[in-house]
Amino acid sequence: MTHRRPTAAAVSLFLAAATALVCATGAQTPTGPRLLVVIVVDQMRQDYLDRMAPLWTRGLKRLVTEGAVFEQSFYPYLQTVTCAGHATIGTGSFPATHGIILNAWWRGTRSASCTDDASVQPVGYEPDPETVGHSAAELRVPTLADRLRAASPSSRVVTLSIKPRSAIMLAGRAGVVTWTDDRNRWATSTAYAAAPDPDVQAFVTAHPRTSVKDQVWRRLLDDDRYTGTDTAVGEKPPTGWTPEFPHPMAGAPGTTDDQFYTLWETSPYADRYLADMAADLVVRKGLGQGEAVDFLGVSFSALDYVGHKFGPDSHEVQDTLLRLDHTVGDLLDALDRHVGRGRYLVGLSSDHGVAPVPEARVSAGESGGRIPTQLLLQTANAAFVRVLGPGQHVVRAEYTQMYLSSVAQHQVIENPRVLRPALAALEQLPGVAHAFPSAGLERDRDSRDPIRRAAALSYVPGRSGQIVVVPKPFYVIGGSDATTHGTHQPYDQHVPLIFFGAGVTAGRHQTPATPADLAPTLASRVGLALPGAEGMVHARIFETP
Ligand SMILES: [Zn+2]
Repeated sequence: MTHRRPTAAAVSLFLAAATALVCATGAQTPTGPRLLVVIVVDQMRQDYLDRMAPLWTRGLKRLVTEGAVFEQSFYPYLQTVTCAGHATIGTGSFPATHGIILNAWWRGTRSASCTDDASVQPVGYEPDPETVGHSAAELRVPTLADRLRAASPSSRVVTLSIKPRSAIMLAGRAGVVTWTDDRNRWATSTAYAAAPDPDVQAFVTAHPRTSVKDQVWRRLLDDDRYTGTDTAVGEKPPTGWTPEFPHPMAGAPGTTDDQFYTLWETSPYADRYLADMAADLVVRKGLGQGEAVDFLGVSFSALDYVGHKFGPDSHEVQDTLLRLDHTVGDLLDALDRHVGRGRYLVGLSSDHGVAPVPEARVSAGESGGRIPTQLLLQTANAAFVRVLGPGQHVVRAEYTQMYLSSVAQHQVIENPRVLRPALAALEQLPGVAHAFPSAGLERDRDSRDPIRRAAALSYVPGRSGQIVVVPKPFYVIGGSDATTHGTHQPYDQHVPLIFFGAGVTAGRHQTPATPADLAPTLASRVGLALPGAEGMVHARIFETP
């Protein structure tokens, strides 16, 4: 712990360590799990389980048939995006507490990602890494992995994702934390290691991703096993591909290396690579074989990239889920072989869901649409100009959050009525359900108004915008992708929550749940308390029937 960020987190980490030592006998029980495994499938909606389960034969089938499946698991907050979701899964608390409100927020003069940290340097596994360092400095509470290490310093933590925010928010402050950076290079940072981890380096060196350039992504099953059409309205494939299968991994003639890496991350090959890396590190590092309980976090991102480009009903999303079944199956087989059945405990969830493609709904005669970000900014700014005079009063929109200039913020504090014309103008826009000030939301975490409550659970003073814009159902903000996520609608909030492995009784549960329950439930099984966690422990999944 550096003295740059001491106070609350350090104190609670210390308390966690003290609590954990008291409970440590549980962690030493030889029959308990030796490895906690957190699997996140980015953008996996709960209804994908119903749609795809009949076609699964491998790992995802094992999880849904042998695991404890919570079918009513909803994020309770508004800003359902990747960094917030992973921080919730990693810590067992919500954004208002853990501080990670979005993937990026306005920091006075610019928008910066949730993991950007100027005090750390990138550490690359491949030449030419990006120049920005990433860490969990913005995360205000310890993760489950942090608490495991505090309880037993010999606990090993390994987390992997092709997104820095996903790997980092599952790990927290330390571990072998590996991601691909903005230049698509495998990397970590000096927050985690002064030099490349030799085991990760060995894997990356032995497995160049460009080796799949001669592969073609085809559907795994016959065409008639997929619902809907392969070329649906509104698909926006990445450069180098058409909306239609097959998708050559090398792209179209003239596809650059940078474009290839975009195709790679938008394909099941990215998930496959990550699972292979995870299995390799389980062996090389002997995870689950040490004196203390170890932690493995794997976040699969391909479904998110594919979903953004092709939409949730596409053949591409269905095929990504079919192939993920095999990928997870191979990972579970590796855990069975090298850790042992009954010696590892898995929690699987997702960071958010996704909206249907608006144009597909409109063409089917259903409601929906897009709200251009520029339109939000111009509309709100024009209203402020009428009150405050010319100027750039609204400086940024980060999905549902709108940020005012510091001058405009001061005007609003002095006279809250200054905000009214902007709110009224925003609510006149097609697709906008509500626009309201964020000030005071910290008092609404238990509000009976579901939208205020959701906004309050995502609200952090100093990080959140000054105006919250809530779209109508089936409206998305922005237009660069086929679709996106980030609201309180069920299609964004309702995600899987599954426990599997050591001591878990198979069953389906209708108990209300949230992905914040994952960390406390795993922790409980190794005798660890997570003081301050907002998620609940589902102890009954460990009872024998
Ligand atoms: Zn996404």
